[in-house]
Amino acid sequence: MLRKGVGHRTTPLRSPGRAERSDRLIDSHGRTIRDLRLSITDRCNFRCTYCMDPDVRFAPPAELLSVKEMLRVVGVCRDMGVKKVRLTGGEPTLHPELERIIAGVAGLGVSDLALTTNGSLLTPEAAARWRDAGLGRVTVSLDTLKPEKMREITRSSTPPARVLEAVEACLGAGLGPVKINAVVVRGFNEEEIEDLAELARIYGADMRFIEFMPLDSARAWESSRLVTAEEIVSRVRARWEMTPLDRAERSETSFNYAFSDGAPGRVGVIASVTRPFCGACSRLRITADGMVRPCLFSRDEWDLRTLLRSGADDAHLKAFLADATWGKQAGHGISEPGFRQPDRPMSAIGG
Ligand code: SAM
Ligand code: SF4
Repeated sequence: MLRKGVGHRTTPLRSPGRAERSDRLIDSHGRTIRDLRLSITDRCNFRCTYCMDPDVRFAPPAELLSVKEMLRVVGVCRDMGVKKVRLTGGEPTLHPELERIIAGVAGLGVSDLALTTNGSLLTPEAAARWRDAGLGRVTVSLDTLKPEKMREITRSSTPPARVLEAVEACLGAGLGPVKINAVVVRGFNEEEIEDLAELARIYGADMRFIEFMPLDSARAWESSRLVTAEEIVSRVRARWEMTPLDRAERSETSFNYAFSDGAPGRVGVIASVTRPFCGACSRLRITADGMVRPCLFSRDEWDLRTLLRSGADDAHLKAFLADATWGKQAGHGISEPGFRQPDRPMSAIGG
């Protein structure tokens, strides 16, 4: 079942035939999937301008995967070699059964379980509960330190101070080192790059600047609004002497730097547009409504939900996931002339 845009159709198997097929998640470009991004909800209490429309329509609850379905998918992916799981959304902390999801995924024995959040609902009590349930790491998103600008970017009343409290709550609960994500958009927050980088020193955090990608629901992305990784790094290096770090893993999404004066924390850039890491990509995404998206920029979606609800056994799910993975595109092609932005925005894919 391949879902393209709004239509569905049945496709022949694209991965090697059943007899030769590996029970790993391997694509036709030789990449192996080890990381699963699981979007547990499409809902959000923010409406970030670079992500979600103010009048977004969320999927009806019946179309969203249940906790049982999510855990079944993660279990099958684990059996096929997935080691890391990141819970995302939408805003994952809005899910009423988040703790059960964390405990369930942790109980499946994945080696690394992380969560990406806007931080608005992350209190010290919540952080302790999620840690006790098995959460290992947290990434908090914060694009500005100015309350006015935060209101403008997120269209919410959550101030930056609240998100910094969330960072402190994670550190207090032992969910560190915390990663802090900031999307840099020209004319919006590039003047704050140095102040945001300083958060790395203050909190011993990994401050990661993300190049603005054409995944905004307003479709307002244009290259003139992109602040390149090169520009971001040169701004940071003009303030502090920075030492480039080796990449821990080839598939790591960020290029990282340490402060040469020995201060704690690191600064990284996720250069998805100008220095894509597609060649070493090890990720697969499952949307909250149960579609497999082999790439953020996939134009194809594989309808796993229908299969899950049709009584398919694990062998069938594995074959389906192997097929979906096999067709993973070589790269996102943002800079290519025929590039078309995917229909789903970031919030509906799971960043
Ligand atoms: N709601 C959570 C949050 O904001 O952290 C998790 C989901 S959000 C879609 C995951 C990450 O995607 C966030 O760090 C967000 O800043 C990033 N993101 C959203 N839209 C983006 C875009 N158009 N370009 C680059 N990053 C984007
Ligand atoms: Fe919500 Fe995260 Fe998208 Fe902002 S980036 S609208 S917080 S899903």
